[in-house]
Amino acid sequence: MGAHIIDGKAFAATVREKVAGHVSRMVEEHGIKPGLAVVLVGEDPASQVYVRNKGKQTAESGMASFEHKLPADTDEATLLAIVEKLNADPAVHGILVQLPLPAHLNSDLIINTIAPEKDVDGFHVVNVGRLGAGLKAMIPCTPLGSLMMLKDFHGDLSGMNAVIVGRSNIVGKPMAQLLLGANATPTIAHSRTKDLPDVVRQADIVVAAVGRPEMVLGDWIKPGATVIDVGINRVPAPEKGEGKHKIVGDVHFESAEKVAGAITPVPGGVGPMTIACLLANTVTAAARSAGLPEPEGLTA
Ligand code: NDP
Repeated sequence: MGAHIIDGKAFAATVREKVAGHVSRMVEEHGIKPGLAVVLVGEDPASQVYVRNKGKQTAESGMASFEHKLPADTDEATLLAIVEKLNADPAVHGILVQLPLPAHLNSDLIINTIAPEKDVDGFHVVNVGRLGAGLKAMIPCTPLGSLMMLKDFHGDLSGMNAVIVGRSNIVGKPMAQLLLGANATPTIAHSRTKDLPDVVRQADIVVAAVGRPEMVLGDWIKPGATVIDVGINRVPAPEKGEGKHKIVGDVHFESAEKVAGAITPVPGGVGPMTIACLLANTVTAAARSAGLPEPEGLTA
């Protein structure tokens, strides 16, 4: 029997429904309309698609959406001034600067200029530190979405061995913090890890965030383990026609699905949850800024 397929698309729809419910209550009961500002510099095609989807879903959930599209040669002072203006704008509760930024801009400086309480990507050092210290933080969307799916499927993660392949600041490291916070026992593997397949075989939960198409194979997976595939890789798909491409994960789905107990597909797994969690973080930020209770079901 194959693994249970964790349907991230369907789960993301339920998160968006919760978001919309919280938004309408905040508007009706408190006169607060949560607002998300997205700043895009340059014309990277993938970033343009992300920003369009984010804007659309923000508006659909009843929130205010503010888009700032700037030319690729925007200088640092101009971008910093826009971020400062958004920091001071009471209609804006969440600010996202789409990465990657053009090479002449200092991403760290710009991200760390966002007011931490409006940093809905959770990349500001204050939020990184607060998450590490087990304090209330803005949590990066991709690991947050992955944790929500794991908790939804397993309930309690206490005592489970988790192996995260990849140690990026965006996915791997915050994922480990979240799993630790959920009482799992996380191990972070990376390109220098020895005997990676053997390390992965110890895991009750595998999170693959490597950026290498279909690297994690079925025989690396402990029978019955839960596999969260964060990878998004565009690869040639000659079977679909000349010059065609398809999206695959970091896990070899066909072999892993035969061994795992549960697995997220790509596409349709972690990806939709990431945007849903961005909306969730914006509502959380708006509630916190107004001193309201934490919106239920939207955070770790
Ligand atoms: P990074 O490139 O920042 O990090 C990749 C990590 O994988 C690094 O820690 C690297 O190790 C490790 N790695 C690379 N090669 C190997 C290897 N052969 N064996 C073991 N470890 C290896 O990637 P991100 O974390 O930003 O993204 C990871 C994947 O997730 C990508 O496919 C990306 O597209 C996807 N992604 C998906 C999102 C979504 O919404 N679903 C959001 C963000 C990312 P080292 O540190 O030693 O170099």
